[in-house]
Amino acid sequence: DAVVHWFKWDLRTQDNSALYLASQKASEAKVPLIGLYIISPEDFEAHLTAPVRVDFALRTLRVLKKDLEALDIPLWVETVEKRKEIPGRVVELMEGWGASHLYANMEYEVDELRREARMVRMLAERGMSMEVLHDTCVVPPGRLQTGTGKQYSVYTPWFRAWVRHVHEHKELLELAGLPLRNHPSAREKFAEIFECEVPEAPENKKISEEEKKRFKALWPAGEHEAMKRLSKFCDEAIGKYGQNRNIPANPGTSNLSVHFASGTLSTRTAVRMARDRNNTKKLDGGNEGIQVWISEVAWRDFYKHVLVHWPYICMNKPFKPEYSNIEWSYDLKQFNAWTNGRTGFPIVDAAMRQLNHMGWMHNRCRMIVASFLSKDLLLDWRMGEKYFMEHLVDGDFASNNCGWGFAASVGVDPQPYFRIFNPLLQSEKFDPEGEYIRKWVPELKGVSGKAIHDPYGRGAGAIASKAGYPKPIVEHKAARETTLAAYKRGIDSG
Ligand code: FAD
Repeated sequence: DAVVHWFKWDLRTQDNSALYLASQKASEAKVPLIGLYIISPEDFEAHLTAPVRVDFALRTLRVLKKDLEALDIPLWVETVEKRKEIPGRVVELMEGWGASHLYANMEYEVDELRREARMVRMLAERGMSMEVLHDTCVVPPGRLQTGTGKQYSVYTPWFRAWVRHVHEHKELLELAGLPLRNHPSAREKFAEIFECEVPEAPENKKISEEEKKRFKALWPAGEHEAMKRLSKFCDEAIGKYGQNRNIPANPGTSNLSVHFASGTLSTRTAVRMARDRNNTKKLDGGNEGIQVWISEVAWRDFYKHVLVHWPYICMNKPFKPEYSNIEWSYDLKQFNAWTNGRTGFPIVDAAMRQLNHMGWMHNRCRMIVASFLSKDLLLDWRMGEKYFMEHLVDGDFASNNCGWGFAASVGVDPQPYFRIFNPLLQSEKFDPEGEYIRKWVPELKGVSGKAIHDPYGRGAGAIASKAGYPKPIVEHKAARETTLAAYKRGIDSG
């Protein structure tokens, strides 16, 4: 007999709810525990998983395999081309190993919930069991309700309820620790699994040698790296997070999103460490930077709660149905200018180039480019949402979809539609010296002073043009009017 833990985007040994429970089950039954990870190229395609994200997961699996082995737990990694064949293959593997219990952490997207429901049935028919646990949020979805018993659709009151709930339920920030050491028979019985190797990226997510090197340097993988980053951030930067978090030229944010998205770090561990640094020892009050950071991590929970309650957002529909009739543009020339960082708006171009180079973009810039795509270019926000997923190392459906919904005003608790970012003012406010722009748009290195924000409009056109930097592809004021009219028409006809 054996117990299996199925890893998905929970690639860590520490404080992993289902893994820990699986190890307890195995220990009680005096049988070995086996870790399992399935690579499905078709699944990556269906989720638009960025190659940089796949690369991060595979590098992390190599770290995870070693960490598990230190506890005598083997990890089996296998490629299953078609996603619909995954449940059947998991069952087959379990039968081959003589395992009767499967553990996994829950993923809340519609396809994943359906898959898990199917697996629970399949296993039950064969006399086996599957346990799926809440793990990725600090507060499991479904726990928080408004006074009238509804799901919150506005962040601020939801956050107050979240804080209250965590204070009242101390167990939510108790950490599971490492899984128990495996049964001594595991080494001999499953020698083949210990020997299996983590494969290279599948054909559809291959990257060049240059990208491999770049991503490895930018995104060191695995949970130890995550802990190191978290401690360093809490030691050195969290106190000033409130002041620095909106300045893209400053590394004032934690840079932990890749770890939350891959599950190399649990949000419990992060929130707990931040809370413990606060002199109030609470999630609220005390140090402002700590409070603000915890409230940002909570946004991730909020969006997952929204996804669970309104799963139709997984189906390409806007959260706000009354915004379904806006006539979007599908102008590919403009879209390509946006993706390539050649819109002629320096802050937008810097941000898109950062994304293309790193697989990551600063939050302020995500809002600026998302607003620019939907409200200056009036392009369908879903084109931007898709492009982000295809390129982000931290691509997470709920955060990305809701982030786009916020910026395009079609999502949950959004920016009102008539509030349209002026890219020039955003640039002046959040990159006052133009440091961020100069870093990512080398054509503008020679432009000094305020002209950096708008070279053609502020007397640096000759330098920009000589360096091959494009002129603005739209005029903001006119675009704004067109957009306001289009949103209004869309809403009125809805
Ligand atoms: P920090 O500022 O240090 O914040 C700590 C953590 O809190 C983050 O790692 C993240 O997990 C969470 N967080 C912070 N802000 C948000 C937010 N607005 N929404 C949800 N969670 C948040 N985040 C993703 O993890 N994946 C995405 O695919 C994603 N897509 C986005 C798309 C758009 C259009 C926008 C506006 C935002 C998106 N975000 C996404 C949220 C946010 O931009 C990133 O989480 C953040 O930039 C990551 O950097 P950090 O780890 O240094 O964040």
